[in-house]
Amino acid sequence: MSPCEDCHAGCCRSFTVPVSGADIMRIENGLGLSFWDFVCRWEDPDGRIALNYAPHFFFEDEPETQFVISLMHHESEYFKETTRCRFLTEGAPDEEHPLGQARCGIYNYRPGACRVFPTKFDPANELAVIHDIPDRSRDGDVGVYDLCPRPWEPSDLDPVQPLHNLVVARYEMQFFRSIAELWNRNPRSWSVFPDFLRLVYARRVVREEELKPQQTVTELAPAEVVDDRENPSVVPFAISEEQRRSA
Ligand code: SF4
Ligand code: SF4
Repeated sequence: MSPCEDCHAGCCRSFTVPVSGADIMRIENGLGLSFWDFVCRWEDPDGRIALNYAPHFFFEDEPETQFVISLMHHESEYFKETTRCRFLTEGAPDEEHPLGQARCGIYNYRPGACRVFPTKFDPANELAVIHDIPDRSRDGDVGVYDLCPRPWEPSDLDPVQPLHNLVVARYEMQFFRSIAELWNRNPRSWSVFPDFLRLVYARRVVREEELKPQQTVTELAPAEVVDDRENPSVVPFAISEEQRRSA
């Protein structure tokens, strides 16, 4: 039985989950949710959220702050003054499970970072390695932030699927890093970010005759996004020829 089976899901309470644009599109399209229902930007001054995995984004409303695009947290229903991923479905604590039992409410649509946990690639990118997971990842003495109830064993995991998950998560986060590089050359407001993403990802599938030689992610940059929240004007996203050449 997987350690997750009976667990209160300390991981989904403890960690800030970085998402890629692909994760956002999957959840929006699959569950009919809006970006503003589940995505937030977390300040990440020391890089502890990005962890060399997720990119940092800058926005014109707070130009000096680096942010990681992440899943929202809500207050726990049963453990006041603690938080949990807004998609975690909590069960009430009982005698047998004093920390309750909890499940991912969007299991088939969950982000890449959740799919790969608790594995990472080995240095040769051939093996899935189980992380050394601490007993607790948040400071303090709050039991609900305890992590896995027992150490993971290789036999807890399928021999194929974790590697596939790692490959896809890495690929999509690499693509998202290119998007961040593009965005950060000319950061706009947080309010137009979802429209920007939607336009970029809508251009990811092309007909063969439309394919330009050596097409890069800069070719996917939308020309404009309408800022309908703060400013009714059109916000230009087109990048200059000079920027295009240096991409
Ligand atoms: S999306 Fe699901 S698996 Fe990921 S943190 Fe939220 S509840 Fe946990
Ligand atoms: S804390 Fe560990 S055992 Fe519990 S749900 Fe998360 S990964 Fe599974």
